[in-house]
Amino acid sequence: MSESVVTMEKLVSLCKRRGFIFQSSEIYGGLSSAWDYGPLGVELKKRIQNFWWKEMTQLNDNIVGIDAAIMMHPRVWEASGHVENFHDPMVDCKKCKLRFRADQIPEENLKNHVCPECGGELTEPRQFNLMFKTHMGPVEDDSSIVYLRPETAQGIYVNFKNVLQTSRLKIPFGIAQVGKAFRNEITTKNFIFRTCEFEQMEMQYFIRPDEDEKWFEYWKEKRFEYYVKLGIRRENLRFHQHGPDELAHYAKKAFDIEYNFPFGWKELEGIHNRTDYDLKRHMEYSGKDLSYLDDINRERFVPYIIETSAGLTRTVLVVLSDAYDEETVEGEKRVVLRFHPIIAPITVAVFPLVKKDGLADLARSIEKNLREHFTTFYDQGGAIGRRYRRQDEVGTPFCITVDYQTKEDNTVTLRFRDSMEQVRVKINEIPSRINDEIKNYRGKES
Ligand code: ATP
Repeated sequence: MSESVVTMEKLVSLCKRRGFIFQSSEIYGGLSSAWDYGPLGVELKKRIQNFWWKEMTQLNDNIVGIDAAIMMHPRVWEASGHVENFHDPMVDCKKCKLRFRADQIPEENLKNHVCPECGGELTEPRQFNLMFKTHMGPVEDDSSIVYLRPETAQGIYVNFKNVLQTSRLKIPFGIAQVGKAFRNEITTKNFIFRTCEFEQMEMQYFIRPDEDEKWFEYWKEKRFEYYVKLGIRRENLRFHQHGPDELAHYAKKAFDIEYNFPFGWKELEGIHNRTDYDLKRHMEYSGKDLSYLDDINRERFVPYIIETSAGLTRTVLVVLSDAYDEETVEGEKRVVLRFHPIIAPITVAVFPLVKKDGLADLARSIEKNLREHFTTFYDQGGAIGRRYRRQDEVGTPFCITVDYQTKEDNTVTLRFRDSMEQVRVKINEIPSRINDEIKNYRGKES
């Protein structure tokens, strides 16, 4: 496999150069740790989201989706515990004005109040709430405060009864949601890993309280295997169990799925046993009954919740890091993103070998016909080898070249990104052949 490992510098530069991810408001000097997804980045992100959505809703007949508003009643965040508990201890440097999370700077610095950047004096740690606050309506007073949601989960909990009553689901069942979340975090480095505005893909599974261990184990394993299905190398994934000090206020048990990023093992998804904490708190704060009647056992209870909470934007970084590869081919460096074909931003690129003799027109018409089936890209500029390399670098799994033989026997060259192998395929068999290749894709080592 790779001769050289992926670094963040290489990823950031490739992402900018090829239109995956740009810095936000770049022409104004950029807004720190905010990022915009370019033409290829948005395709990649959408495909990851669709893959997750299909995996969670379409493939499970007892999981349905919702899309809740970002701004919710402010009492939601009192009930959830975020107003009271969602703090990080922060220290400020009086000299350079930088702010740090107290638990993320060396202990020596914290003890001696020395700024790790400039050596200036640090303040005492202060609790800093991570929720973004704004006002809804024309008056900016305490009664108009709303928060930008720091997690998508609460939108699911407050709709538990609505979904239950309208969908005729029986416990156990799940509600899935993908959407933006906001946290006013200190986010100094590591590209899109940690941003103040990000996207989550969450599924909340409502269960009988006495079945929590069983469903926790089930989702823990299921979610791990999902990443393997997405094409992530198994050896770059692991579990991390939260010890008693790490457990969030709502959690009885928690495991993270971690990924081996270029800067170390870090969380990608959390699987949490949230017990009946959330529904009970919403019952208390709203005065509404959110219990469930099990009509077979004639029993009423407040369901427990197993949560699977993944970062969508963080998964984009995982997918890019895991796909990045470099190798030497015929004395030249080849950079290749080995995306699983199901999430590659472009599925098929079509080239004429040369522009003349009608080959360009023929290639164009083949490309147009393929649009119905796949995202395509047409390129007639430069040497054919260069065109292949450009597609390798953005992770296009299949390239088709139209040459003189095409005019004689209606076949084209189909070239595979990973192996660089080439085969001849009949024009009318291209869609089925590519679909088969996608279905049978064996991953990065194949
Ligand atoms: P961390 O410890 O990294 O701050 P967390 O434990 O607070 O994360 P959760 O609240 O469990 O994270 O959120 C679930 C998922 O949402 C995380 O696994 C991560 O993928 C994603 N996520 C959380 N915060 C951010 C962020 N600031 N930027 C990007 N993704 C995030």
